[in-house]
Amino acid sequence: MTSIQHALDHSIRPDLRQMSAYHVPSAAGMVKLDAMENPFRMPPEYHARLGERLAQVDLQRYPVPTYSELKQRICHTLGVPQGHEVVLGNGSDELITMLALACVQREQRARVLAPVPGFVMYAMTAQLLGLDFIGVPLKPDFSLDLEAMLAAIHAQQPQLIFLAYPNNPTANLFSRADIEAILRASRGIVVVDEAYQPFANDSFMPQLLEYENLVVMRTVSKMGLAGIRLGYMSAHPALLAEIEKLRPPYNVNVLSEACALFALEHAQIFKEQAAQICAERTLQSARLQALPGVEVFPSQANFLLLRLKNADQVFSSLLEQGVLVKNVGKMHALLANCLRVTIGTAAENLRFYQALENILARTA
Ligand SMILES: *Cc1c(COP(=O)(O)O)cnc(C)c1O
Repeated sequence: MTSIQHALDHSIRPDLRQMSAYHVPSAAGMVKLDAMENPFRMPPEYHARLGERLAQVDLQRYPVPTYSELKQRICHTLGVPQGHEVVLGNGSDELITMLALACVQREQRARVLAPVPGFVMYAMTAQLLGLDFIGVPLKPDFSLDLEAMLAAIHAQQPQLIFLAYPNNPTANLFSRADIEAILRASRGIVVVDEAYQPFANDSFMPQLLEYENLVVMRTVSKMGLAGIRLGYMSAHPALLAEIEKLRPPYNVNVLSEACALFALEHAQIFKEQAAQICAERTLQSARLQALPGVEVFPSQANFLLLRLKNADQVFSSLLEQGVLVKNVGKMHALLANCLRVTIGTAAENLRFYQALENILARTA
């Protein structure tokens, strides 16, 4: 009989065996400010109605793979231009995978380009699917290095470019003019990832009418429905038609579908929550800025990027005090001594602020 060691050696790709799994730290009992979740639930009076709706779902049936009602509702409620459709994904993570999969070629390795530091899934997906990832460093102020981007685009002719707008983990919006220059310079597909659009004051959705190589990708995760795993993207119909060919037909489950429909019928709730989060962001940013030795970067997202004197030590002390944030200092040289902190409820934000204030006072 074949031992598991032999089976792994024979079957599993060596590069995968070298990798480690995406690590999500346990947040049990902690103030959880590490994953850009919306801290609010729907108001309680909606829970019973949602429960009734979910109870009517035919769990014994597969989803109807056209998802036409949900798609219509998304287009109608979330600002997709007239005449444009969407493709749905099990989170935008799956959309990233589908886009990359669509570019894989047997003869020549396809190339994915994105500014770094950026969203880790772009590089990770490229690596897993056998595409080359080209990371172009941002400038120290986290704006795009347009010259370097254009040079890399000309030299490498990437099939896919990912631009997160606002960017994660730096929280800023890149310059519109820079993104438009990239759209014009690229022969391939340019994905503008608007995961944080509910908290930003700008979008490239209207530009779908202008740039035929543009994909605008969004998710309901940061808006307040991270648990249901639903992403969507819009683009030229000819491109969406190609992506539809490789979308797993039932990739959005019936409970997520029903839940998303219900939520979008009450989209105003999520708009109000986003406005509240933005107001908290302003408050949190101002008081953190006033702490000695803390640099707060401008944010158009539901999180703040901070630079501290000794971020590793502060991160550990925060953990001891029951506050979980994300230590991004090792992600990229430009992020040395940086922590990424989600905006939570007023009480959670105060908890974080007071914990940080204590730690800084102790170590000063
Ligand atoms: C959080 C995040 C996503 C999330 O995607 P889902 O899979 O839809 O939860 C996508 N893009 C960026 C830049 C993000 O930060």
